[in-house]
Amino acid sequence: MRNSKSKTIIKIKTWKCPNCGYYQDFEPTDELMLKHFGRSGALCPSCGKTNLIRETNPDKKITISIMGEEEIDTLEVESGKRDTEGRLTMRKLTPAEKTAKIKEIRETIDKFGALEDK
Ligand SMILES: [Zn+2]
Repeated sequence: MRNSKSKTIIKIKTWKCPNCGYYQDFEPTDELMLKHFGRSGALCPSCGKTNLIRETNPDKKITISIMGEEEIDTLEVESGKRDTEGRLTMRKLTPAEKTAKIKEIRETIDKFGALEDK
């Protein structure tokens, strides 16, 4: 179980096209390529010239950044009210909204954690 208190950075499995720079976060198997692009084969769906290859450079893998739970206290949303000059004012989250946000953060970490390229 990851610590979700502070910001989470996850590098996920990435396949790229060496020709045009296109990239995607799933292996170009026949089944998945058929599902996403309507045809099988690992040919780049963007330029159609080169097969996709696995990205091995950690700096170039798709990186997901997920807010930490400790940041929730600093979050502000529009209050729906306006100040004397007519500008929308901001407010902190309610306890229920904070709870929902924590759940969302943990679910996002789980989702992308499953795709992580360790
Ligand atoms: Zn391409």
